[in-house]
Amino acid sequence: MKKTTHPASDATLAIHAGEDRHGRNAPLTTEIQQTAVFALRNTEQLRRYLKGEGDVYLYTRYGNPTLRAAEEKIAALELGEDCVLTASGLAAEFCAALALCRAGDEIACMMDVYGGTAKLFRNLLQRCGIHTRLIPFDGMAQVEDYFSPQTRMLFLETPTNPTLRCVDIAKLARLARKHKITTVVDNTFATPILQKPLTMGADLVVHSATKYLGGHSDLTAGAVAGSKKLIAKVRETMILSGGCSDPGVAYLLLRGLKTLDVRMERACGNAQQIAEFLVAHPRVAQVFYSGLPTSPEHELAARQMKGFGAMVSFDIRGGGRAAERFLDALKLWYLATSLGGVESTVSYPVLSSHASLKAKELKLLGVSPATIRLSAGIEDARDLVADLSQALDAAGK
Ligand SMILES: *Cc1c(COP(=O)(O)O)cnc(C)c1O
Repeated sequence: MKKTTHPASDATLAIHAGEDRHGRNAPLTTEIQQTAVFALRNTEQLRRYLKGEGDVYLYTRYGNPTLRAAEEKIAALELGEDCVLTASGLAAEFCAALALCRAGDEIACMMDVYGGTAKLFRNLLQRCGIHTRLIPFDGMAQVEDYFSPQTRMLFLETPTNPTLRCVDIAKLARLARKHKITTVVDNTFATPILQKPLTMGADLVVHSATKYLGGHSDLTAGAVAGSKKLIAKVRETMILSGGCSDPGVAYLLLRGLKTLDVRMERACGNAQQIAEFLVAHPRVAQVFYSGLPTSPEHELAARQMKGFGAMVSFDIRGGGRAAERFLDALKLWYLATSLGGVESTVSYPVLSSHASLKAKELKLLGVSPATIRLSAGIEDARDLVADLSQALDAAGK
């Protein structure tokens, strides 16, 4: 999309941002430029490339027009100045962390983050001399206790996985800034449709584009969005670590992003109906969904997000045995350890994302063998609820 005269809304940006309107007899959609290398017309083009003129491409790991279109679309939706696409969500986090931290520095990170994030920081980055302090959810109210003079990055994820709790991005980013700490928010669960952390004081947003942004469970990619200055550093880390995306993947991502706004609207509506069904069900012990007025973060979520999200978790009565009977009785919901696709999926944390955690850690995270996580897709809500209902009946038999 070239310059418009008025600010566009998310639904419009999702379709048009980043895409070039080429003119006569040109493809309407952004093409896949399936090449690793670009041939230059003359040395003048090499000179222009060295000056950083955006329309000259050299080598796909450094940049590619299809990748660039996806970057511009995500930057537009996140209201960031720039964005860099990466090979996966974890590559995005790795590049963001290494752009901000060096040996001797510290990361302050919520304990309730995606399992791979905690392992990346605590295992891999620890070996590079970067130390991570994990903050239990109850500790977030005194987040400054977890800062030291070496802390460079505060890493947040909201809503959390799998208990879907929320933290106050504006407040935490303000406290971090006071200590010259850069705030990074994993916005995978909310998507820019529901929550724009950069407008609340966060410095960088990271995404697993594998989830809602792609939206069809058919690609693996990541993204980091933020200011031009910070993204230049992250891009350099991406280029040097080799964590680039691919033109074919970027095409699928562009295609998925176009329907992000409508997908989120439908999926959030489905999630709300599912949460209301579950909360009234006698076989359900507890429902985790900020869209329920009884949720401890209902007010915060209503203030910070445009919708309550499409993820719903719950504890089933009868513990692990009932949970397994429930999961095995589902007919429509796929048992799949991911989220954010058009198809509804269910995951079982203690046998997947949280399998390597000790009982004490699970307790701190509020996860037990009774905990089940749902990713509402965009099917008909009545069909989704009917399947949950028959599986809950089966679990009680
Ligand atoms: C899946 C996920 C990641 C990791 O993304 P990949 O694309 O699998 O590397 C990071 N954060 C969250 C919240 C996720 O759900």
